[in-house]
Amino acid sequence: MNAEIVLTGTELLLGEITDTNSVVIARMLRDIGLDLLYKTTVGDNEVRIAEILRDALKRADFVIVSGGLGPTVDDVTRQAAAAATGRKLVYSKELEAQIAARFKRFGRTMAENNKRQAWLPEGAIPVENPVGTAPCFIIETEQGSIICLPGVPRELEYQMKRAIIPYLKGKMGKTQVIKARILHTCGLGESNVDRQLDDLMRGSNPTVGLAAHLGQVDIRITAKAATEADANALIAPAEEEIRKRLADTIFGVDQKTLPEVVGELLEKHNLQVTAVDTLTGGVLTGRMQSDERSKAAFTATVFSSPEEVFDTIGVPAPNDAESAEAAVKELTQRLSQPNTLGVCIIGPVKTDSTGEEALIAIAHKGQVNLSRYHRVYKGQTDREWLAAQALDRVWRWLR
Ligand code: ATP
Repeated sequence: MNAEIVLTGTELLLGEITDTNSVVIARMLRDIGLDLLYKTTVGDNEVRIAEILRDALKRADFVIVSGGLGPTVDDVTRQAAAAATGRKLVYSKELEAQIAARFKRFGRTMAENNKRQAWLPEGAIPVENPVGTAPCFIIETEQGSIICLPGVPRELEYQMKRAIIPYLKGKMGKTQVIKARILHTCGLGESNVDRQLDDLMRGSNPTVGLAAHLGQVDIRITAKAATEADANALIAPAEEEIRKRLADTIFGVDQKTLPEVVGELLEKHNLQVTAVDTLTGGVLTGRMQSDERSKAAFTATVFSSPEEVFDTIGVPAPNDAESAEAAVKELTQRLSQPNTLGVCIIGPVKTDSTGEEALIAIAHKGQVNLSRYHRVYKGQTDREWLAAQALDRVWRWLR
């Protein structure tokens, strides 16, 4: 069986609010193993909502609609659902009494326009809404069911948990779980990971998919099975195979972050980091501060340019690639101590290449490792990307 979400609200299309309801619905559907195949956003327009609902019913067993159940003229989900299923709206005295009672409980009188909420498509099953005034409802048709829920996130989440998930479970008979495990990699581009996992990404259970972030690619393995243990058993061999192919780029699983892993390693080896940074504008420091252990082990001085760094340490600013590398290596060595890694993120430095380059160096106990990076991004993206590269270098060094 499968489901589809229809989000109503012109404010969503105008970008005035960010949709969070579909995230809540999607996670709950995943937890009961109900496949979610489509998600559509539509404005507060009766004809267009009805059109989407008709289309959705052709594909989905359950169409879950968010929003448009309020008492105002732009709340048109009731009318659209009636039109899509060829039903008329009927007035329910019982619903009116429920709405009036709720207003009374809140110490308010029901306005005339709230009576609009007592109209439901003929044959719809009303679902009481104890946390708001808009009654929800389900229309069961031969094709599938339309489930209409309030747009207010708190009400929607409550109704999903309390009424809709039990309803869906009942309809599905045996439920399943959908389990996802995310492997985080760094140091490899998305297309590179894609090439290495191409065959695995064509499978169906588990499915393997990628999500690229700056300097990090996540590999999501998703399996569907009767129990969580069965889903884990499907995920395990896929994970093993991925680890075989990408082992030295996977730094963590699920909630793990790279600063957390770096913090653990620094603590394990009883090491500190002293950094000089002219490029990330403090982004690297911010990332290191996101984890308590790496925060405790990390000190950085942020300079505005390489010249300022060389000035401060009394070394003439290098004017060719070779002397730039030598100067940065020398500086990084000076920062390191027996219990401290020296780290430099410096640039733009004059190099032989035509584009601007950044140098990232790590030194400890007389050894220096220096990498050169072409700067493909600009502004904040460049700073974040370089901070990710520096973290990746430090992690590799510590391993
Ligand atoms: P009400 O009874 O309050 O009128 P409703 O069912 O008519 O509820 P909407 O009017 O569509 O729902 O939405 C109410 C509010 O809920 C919106 O103003 C918005 O702040 C929030 N909301 C609506 N849809 C979403 C969504 N998809 N994600 C997050 N918030 C939403």
